[in-house]
Amino acid sequence: MTENPLPTTQHAVRVDVSGGPEVLQWTEVEVPAPGPGEVLVKTAAAGLNFIETYQRSGVYRMPHPFIPGSEGSGTVVGLGPGVSAVSLGDVVATAAGSGTYAEYFTAPVGQLLPVPAGVDPVHAAAIPLQGLTAHYLHRSTFPVESGQTVLVHAGAGGVGLLLTQLCVARGATVISTASTDEKKELSRRAGASEVLDYTGFAARVREATDGEGAHVVFDGVGKDTFDESLESLRVRGTLVLFGGSSGQVPPFDLQRLNGAGSLFITRPSLAFYTRTAEETRWRAEELFAALEAGTLDFRVGATHPLSEAGRAHEDLESRRTTGKSLLLP
Ligand code: NDP
Repeated sequence: MTENPLPTTQHAVRVDVSGGPEVLQWTEVEVPAPGPGEVLVKTAAAGLNFIETYQRSGVYRMPHPFIPGSEGSGTVVGLGPGVSAVSLGDVVATAAGSGTYAEYFTAPVGQLLPVPAGVDPVHAAAIPLQGLTAHYLHRSTFPVESGQTVLVHAGAGGVGLLLTQLCVARGATVISTASTDEKKELSRRAGASEVLDYTGFAARVREATDGEGAHVVFDGVGKDTFDESLESLRVRGTLVLFGGSSGQVPPFDLQRLNGAGSLFITRPSLAFYTRTAEETRWRAEELFAALEAGTLDFRVGATHPLSEAGRAHEDLESRRTTGKSLLLP
């Protein structure tokens, strides 16, 4: 069942070959048909995430051509077979859409987040992917507890700002890293007690914890921070390596975990922490409750037209962004 009249073609960003931001081409493509259990959404905004730079450049292999983007918000304009949980006209957001860098995208109904009244439908695209990530990292990958010391890298980034606030709300002390004075100030405002540079941070974390080290390091920067992240941990501490904005971490000798104090290391991914509609809903409910309670705030640092997605990728890869960047059709 589909609302009429819907266009048969639309504009979207398409990637035909791996490469730099210039391979993101604004072009005409067909409007996708929602399959069983899916809806068609008219895009209000697509969320920009670091993973799309890995997919574009070929760090993550993708079948070509493809339309990037899994995060977006908008209005439901089409229902695939068997969908009854949402209605035409509902405003939704998701981290699990297919090709959200487009005027229309499809998404599985079980991965839709209802957008609470009071949240702007455009801004709603700022929450799902980085919000669900920040949630699973501190609630499930390493359940952060009151009194613990947590190191969050890229503290002024999309995930970093949210994760810092969520850890502080649980009573943890957050130390973060960031590259510029402006970013350091943003991270402090999110609740970081101290914001450090990307070199020499391990020694400072140790000093700040009476020589013990952090209980957990949330590291989405990867290659440049990995070694010092390990050095920042206390005995039996955990390194959560969840990304590589500076590059991927090269192969690693597991014996190092032994010598460094029986450390734990994990490399988690959002898809495995949102496997069911129930799990996604639980995480979303906690996030939206925190937004409503005022213990969580999100920052839209920039908006770009979708047709200029290449410029948005350049900014993200050149460390010029803070918080969330949105792409508008
Ligand atoms: P951010 O907004 O955090 O942007 C990346 C930031 O990384 C930059 O702003 C920059 O902050 C920092 N950075 C450090 N070194 C570099 C470098 N050499 N080049 C570019 N940036 C650098 O992005 P996101 O919030 O979207 O994502 C953060 C990380 O989380 C990424 O690695 C992403 O892949 C990962 N991620 C993982 C998920 C998962 O489930 N595993 C899900 C979502 C995101 P500064 O200038 O302060 O250094």
